[in-house]
Amino acid sequence: MSKKIFRSILAVAMIVLAASLFIATAFLYDFFNRSQVNQLKEQLSLSASHVDQLGVEYFEGFESSLFRYTLVAPDGSVLYDSQVTAGNMENHLEREEISEALRNGHGSSVRYSATLTERTFYEAVRLESGNVLRISSTQITAGALLVGISPAITATILSSAILATVLSKRMTKSIVEPLNKLDLENPEENDSYEELTPLLKKIGHQYRQISLQMQAMKQQSDEFRQITASMNEGLVLLDEKRKILSINEAAKRLFGTDDTAVGRDFLTLDRGVTMSRAIEKALAGKHSEFREERGESEYQFLINRIESDGKTVGAVIVCLDVTETAFAERNRREFTANVSHELKTPLQSIIGSAELLENGLVKPEDTGRFIGNIKQEAARLMTLINDIIRLSQLDEDTTPARESVDLCEVAEEVLDVLATPAKKRQVELHLEKAPCVMTGNRQYLYEILYNLCDNAIRYNKEGGNLKIRLENTPENIVLSVEDTGIGIPAEYQPRIFERFYRVDKSHSKETGGTGLGLSIVKHAVAYHGGTVRLTSRPGEGTVVTVLFPHS
Ligand code: ADP
Repeated sequence: MSKKIFRSILAVAMIVLAASLFIATAFLYDFFNRSQVNQLKEQLSLSASHVDQLGVEYFEGFESSLFRYTLVAPDGSVLYDSQVTAGNMENHLEREEISEALRNGHGSSVRYSATLTERTFYEAVRLESGNVLRISSTQITAGALLVGISPAITATILSSAILATVLSKRMTKSIVEPLNKLDLENPEENDSYEELTPLLKKIGHQYRQISLQMQAMKQQSDEFRQITASMNEGLVLLDEKRKILSINEAAKRLFGTDDTAVGRDFLTLDRGVTMSRAIEKALAGKHSEFREERGESEYQFLINRIESDGKTVGAVIVCLDVTETAFAERNRREFTANVSHELKTPLQSIIGSAELLENGLVKPEDTGRFIGNIKQEAARLMTLINDIIRLSQLDEDTTPARESVDLCEVAEEVLDVLATPAKKRQVELHLEKAPCVMTGNRQYLYEILYNLCDNAIRYNKEGGNLKIRLENTPENIVLSVEDTGIGIPAEYQPRIFERFYRVDKSHSKETGGTGLGLSIVKHAVAYHGGTVRLTSRPGEGTVVTVLFPHS
């Protein structure tokens, strides 16, 4: 704007200067010409009376540098000329001013030189003698005058241009400075230009309105950010060109990005074909959703279009972590399949034996064995059903009672209950205890110890040992069950806490396990916020250690 004002002022100054120069020169030139003609006329009338009295003698000894005098006879012959010898001059009858003077008593004319650089004014008067006295004066023409004074004009223009530049700059500054200093946050307090008052009033009004709207928008965006920041679900807002408008903390973590993602194309965060297609579908107006694994988690992505006035203005992506749900679903499916399978095996055995007995196909001496088999399978079925019921109770029971429990008492009780099976397998039981009283659920703690000791007896060697060790360290209450049994090969160790998992299925009939004991242990330990560790060497034995945090 400063440049424009500066250029305008300078241009106006230069145009005014040029016009002034032209008009002044024209006026001066015209004035000069007229005064020249008047002078000629005065001189002519003065000289005419003398020539009338004295004739040609008047010119004897006459000298004039300013004017040229010519005396012409009525026939046009030149009688006298102040510059050229009269005899050498041609007849002047045809000269405009001469013929006019002969006709009317007075004549005048102007003639230009061949080069047009000069012009001559002629004034002529008829004398009483009939002769014509002519007086003339030569001047340079306007063009020649301009050429002649062009250095002066150039100098004037240059100095004026410099002066105009300096003054224009100052003027521009003085015009622009108050505009630059306008306080647009308080427009009505400015008093630099009166003409701006209506505009500033309007700006002030709009400024207040915009401020209010901005405040409301900021409040809304803060609320939106606070709500979405605390969400566990990822939330991404895209515009219709897939540019990220907003991304909450959960989504930043999921896509491994930060605040710089805003404004970028969503493709820079996720190049997946499925995601790309789903967004495309959503932008086309259809709801789309899909599940995908990200790292160790499974996510469900829900994508919907955002519309305004019936037009698509973007899309919203909601990312739900469904790892636990998916895991639970898978577990439930597997569990149902496993339960049916596990129940079927003993039932088939029972039905088979019963049918043989029913049809009299069993020899009398084998009847006892068959009935024993039915009893054993039924007992196994019972244990299995009890374990299943127990596990589903643990699944359902999310807030079991907590009380102060003396682990030593629980350990003694378990060893008491397991004394008979231990004796059967000739396994020696030991308890190494320290005072360990903790807050927890007695039933759960009993089941942890029972299942670990039951395994330690079941998978022990004849004449082996079982030792329960209870320690109270500053960090934890440590419970370990150690046996000198068959041990677990390293490759099976990660899986033995899974439901129905058994290392040696073929011998499960003899060992009588259900594959659910360690699942119950894992569940009950997790409830107490503890952790389970297992070290085992095939052929040497197993140690299962449970660490409970002090409550
Ligand atoms: P089960 O009822 O079959 O014992 P668990 O869940 O208690 O089921 O144990 C899973 C499997 O882990 C068992 O089938 C067994 O193969 C193995 N196991 C558990 N404890 C021991 C142990 N102390 N020594 C050797 N193997 C064990």
